[in-house]
Amino acid sequence: MAFDLDLIQRYYSSLADQLETVRAKLNRPMSLTEKILYTHLYNTGDLKEFQRGGDYVNFSPDRVAMQDATAQMALLQFMQAGKDKVAVPSTVHCDHLIQAKVGADDDLKTAISTNKEVFDFLSNVSNKYGIGFWKPGAGIIHQVILENYAFPGGMMIGTDSHTVNAGGLGMVAIGVGGADAVDVMAGMPWELKFPKLIGVKLTGKLNGWTSAKDVILKVAGVLTVKGGTGKILEYFGEGAENISCTGKGTICNMGAEIGATTSLFGYDEKMRAYLRGTERADVAEAADKVAAHLTGDPEVYAAPEKYFDEVIEINLDELEPHINGPFSPDKAWPISEFARAVEENGYPRDLEVGLIGSCTNSSYEDITRAASIAQQAVDKGLKVATEFTITPGSEQVRYTVDRDGLLDVFGKIGGVVLANACGPCIGQWARHNADKEKKNSIITSFNRNFAKRNDGNPNTHAFVASPEIVTAMTIAGDLTFNPLTDSLTNEKGEQVKLEEPRGIEMPAMGFSVEDNGYQAPAEDGSHIDINVAPDSRRLQLLDPFAPWEGEDLTGMKLLIKAEGKCTTDHISMAGPWLRYRGHLDNISNNLLIGAVNFFNKKTNAVTNQLTGETGEVPETARAYKAAGIGSIVVGDENYGEGSSREHAAMEPRHLGVRVVLVKSFARIHETNLKKQGMLGLTFADKDDYDKVREDDTISVLGLRKFSPENNLLVRLDHADGTTDEFEANHTYNETQIAWFRAGSALNLIRMQNQ
Ligand code: SF4
Repeated sequence: MAFDLDLIQRYYSSLADQLETVRAKLNRPMSLTEKILYTHLYNTGDLKEFQRGGDYVNFSPDRVAMQDATAQMALLQFMQAGKDKVAVPSTVHCDHLIQAKVGADDDLKTAISTNKEVFDFLSNVSNKYGIGFWKPGAGIIHQVILENYAFPGGMMIGTDSHTVNAGGLGMVAIGVGGADAVDVMAGMPWELKFPKLIGVKLTGKLNGWTSAKDVILKVAGVLTVKGGTGKILEYFGEGAENISCTGKGTICNMGAEIGATTSLFGYDEKMRAYLRGTERADVAEAADKVAAHLTGDPEVYAAPEKYFDEVIEINLDELEPHINGPFSPDKAWPISEFARAVEENGYPRDLEVGLIGSCTNSSYEDITRAASIAQQAVDKGLKVATEFTITPGSEQVRYTVDRDGLLDVFGKIGGVVLANACGPCIGQWARHNADKEKKNSIITSFNRNFAKRNDGNPNTHAFVASPEIVTAMTIAGDLTFNPLTDSLTNEKGEQVKLEEPRGIEMPAMGFSVEDNGYQAPAEDGSHIDINVAPDSRRLQLLDPFAPWEGEDLTGMKLLIKAEGKCTTDHISMAGPWLRYRGHLDNISNNLLIGAVNFFNKKTNAVTNQLTGETGEVPETARAYKAAGIGSIVVGDENYGEGSSREHAAMEPRHLGVRVVLVKSFARIHETNLKKQGMLGLTFADKDDYDKVREDDTISVLGLRKFSPENNLLVRLDHADGTTDEFEANHTYNETQIAWFRAGSALNLIRMQNQ
């Protein structure tokens, strides 16, 4: 089924002309990344050579993807925009809320009943607003996107960091916060700092035990977890052309672990074959006609150091399989050095669980390569020495590998198939027989391996490798085993060796599936009502925030003067709170509970000026709100850095905070505050931070003349009767000032729609 074929054909038909205009302006060869970015400008009148790593640019992505956990607040907000339908093709995928416990069928049933309210809500809202809905069990968002929606040369945003997986099919695909998804679904521009570019030249050919996963495990070791921040990685070279499309997806997927904005490959024969194999021959045909525009210019790849900000070269002929970890995905060990690393670092040598699958590594090729190792174990009288689980990435992959007998092979050596969902990868893993404190080792073909990620145990040493290496290690049960060189003892006491894995890129009989789990939206959703139980603990319909009252903001109380680092995690903590991400009032009980109070150096302990007593931050904010008094948050440098979490801007707004005044902002959070109709200001003179006292009453003056050119004035009325006044800078443009006046960006859109 070729979703969005019209959209893709329309884009391709104008691509040559668009690129001609861009070329005329830039007057130089372009990488693929640049071609995609420059042809997706929101306002083509803005076309100029953008400064990489400097200019903020507005883009117009082709589509939006949301996973079930992050979609809740995004859709609740979108409902506020007053639109009948989403402005670009969008989908919701139920994958993160499914816990892995005993096996696919039972786990899925349990998840559907535990999360019924949330799944029903997501399904109804999707149905109403023209959003494709993938039911629980349909698969993991990124695998489903690769199989159905990704297309060469496209641009997509998704509310999950591994959205980048679609770079395997030549897309610029970027993980974002829910607020960005709402903007794009509502037809607004999406802003991104124009990224720097890293070229990764792949020479040679993958062979033997080495797979696509090892390319990114190696790159992670080179660039480290921060090396990709603000950058896009573009892979090219003969080595790239020989990697399967899903293998390319694996490489792009795990690019998130080095902080890369995204990664991608140019359109080639492997992508063409994958499009055809996933029933999108028409997309391949359309892409073929503009193939030269769907990859970087030859001059760029011939002299990459001239066109990329950084170039890395990897010879695939020499690349060894890698095992990365523990606790960080950039701790990269070639397999020949791994046994020594285990011994020298005292990593627990006995392996307790091996897990394959996830959105990173669950293609047909991955499963066949791992199954070829499992089959050898059957033939040579070996079984797994530890627990072994398999998580298919989608129902289409699961059905096909089941049809082709591969799941049976895993079963014969003791493997357990889990639901087509995130499960253990996101900590949704009720790991049995595991002591929560015990030091232990597991190995996965997933992407992240930070402490506690998989099972909540800080002492679990999680290592990351390809599915075939994971399978081999699971059979051995010993982390010092090197399948390339070592032998194992079988049931008869004989020494046997595992041969190189063999994989099949695409199923010989094609993919098949009985029910792929897709629900198409209603043509006309106007008759669909969205109901949320008033006593729901997990969901709450939003009320629009009140518009600006037209007066200066006076008489506000200081809620907290935060000292030092205050990230979005300090402002809106994750962990157990994520259960309430669809319920603004409930999740607001975590507002700023991680921020350090300047006056007492404690967290979640501030003075309630109405009572003089010390209280928790959310409770104190609620007290001011109940008394009809606005409040203000004062902060330090780079306030709101970290992941783009819309709750960090919505919660203060919900609890009556009107102004956030800081030494400096992380830009995304500053924009998120503006979108929620708040005032995000910075001290014109940073030393004025020191003037703010715990018992201040604070006013922001000059709002009637609020304009991009003018600073605002802050007045502190101290309890001792003295006052201080100083200027505050702002970065509001005319549109953002209109958001402030309307009460939020969504209020403004709704008013414009009426
Ligand atoms: S499988 Fe893991 S990495 Fe992939 S989307 Fe799910 S939680 Fe994220």
